[in-house]
Amino acid sequence: MNTKGFDPENFLANRIKTIKPSGIRRFFDLAYQMDNVISLGVGEPDYVTPLNFREASILSLEKGYTAYSPNAGLIQLRKEISDYLYNKFNAKYSFENEILVTVGSSEALDIAIRTIVNPGDEIIVIEPSYVSYSPIIEMAGGKVVTIQALANFDFKLQPEQLEKVITENTKGIIICSPNNPTGTVLNRRDLEKIAEVIVKHNLLVLSDEIYAEISYDAPFTSMVSIPGMKGRTILINGFSKGFAMTGWRLGFACGPSEIIQGMLKVHQYSIMCAPTMSQFAAIEALRNGQGQVRKMVQSYNDRRRYIVKEFNEMGLSCHLPGGAFYVFPDISSTGLSSEEFAEKLLIDEHVAVVPGSVFGKGGEGYIRCSYATRFELLQEAMLRIKRFIDKEIL
Ligand code: PLP
Repeated sequence: MNTKGFDPENFLANRIKTIKPSGIRRFFDLAYQMDNVISLGVGEPDYVTPLNFREASILSLEKGYTAYSPNAGLIQLRKEISDYLYNKFNAKYSFENEILVTVGSSEALDIAIRTIVNPGDEIIVIEPSYVSYSPIIEMAGGKVVTIQALANFDFKLQPEQLEKVITENTKGIIICSPNNPTGTVLNRRDLEKIAEVIVKHNLLVLSDEIYAEISYDAPFTSMVSIPGMKGRTILINGFSKGFAMTGWRLGFACGPSEIIQGMLKVHQYSIMCAPTMSQFAAIEALRNGQGQVRKMVQSYNDRRRYIVKEFNEMGLSCHLPGGAFYVFPDISSTGLSSEEFAEKLLIDEHVAVVPGSVFGKGGEGYIRCSYATRFELLQEAMLRIKRFIDKEIL
């Protein structure tokens, strides 16, 4: 085949060339080449999916349900999602046109953005932020406008900060509570204050609530349960985190039917439907999974308290996060940048953490550690980090 003069690089679209690969990946490539590494890096439960969820999926395969499901997801699953949201948040969504089952919440986020963004529309992202928000906005031709959440406000967005960045091109905002990477949970009062600004400027909200089940100190408040917000919110959730189902790739989006039906167009042409066997597992998860979810959350809670105490005792200030399974300690006292800290810690002590800088500007000076890791491994990781700090600070 004659490929002379053919440079594949020239065939990449400009918007893809300018997107940076995820900063997390470099560390994992490094960690994979090393022995005896304890990873506090990956954001996923350390549990195998509960047996009854797996069995429901196996049964569906045995019965031969191996075909495509309806584009929007199995009707039974959409009905279960509708009941689940009504029982949890008193929010009524019609299974017929207001709920879309997706390939992870990742797909829901991506197609929500692709459905609402016109070229040049501004979407507000609060940094430190989950790594995919800004790239998906840029790939859809939108403009990312960032706000830096501040540690002295427990990384909670302040309404005045929001007021300052809104322009006539602002279309919406992505809010993530419980938050990745900080673990911060916005309570009802926090949400009400933010909602006031959102309503005043007639904006749309993408509420990423993928960690909603993992909320420790109070029952979780959804953005859609704040008066006036349900009709202007795309609620994004899924089974990966709370139900320990990351590999099943199943999420969902709920919202006003016009928007969900718009998202359905993108979904049906790009994806067709979420995996059918995963949808059967999810039905079981919603019907009978709350007991198992509560047990997992209780265990994360014990680990949360342990790791926060350890970091503070070794002199790295760390706020007690209200949800998810991440802590975000301040490492600036070591004099190292977050990337230097993470790289040195990995090389010297074989502990993998994620430098805060990969989550945007507001993340510099911090590291993200996931404590969804076996307790004995967490203890060993803490010993190693303490040894590293003692050596670094001397
Ligand atoms: N949103 C947040 C905040 C996340 O942390 C993640 C995964 O880490 C996702 C969305 C995507 O999760 P999934 O596609 O597995 O539902």
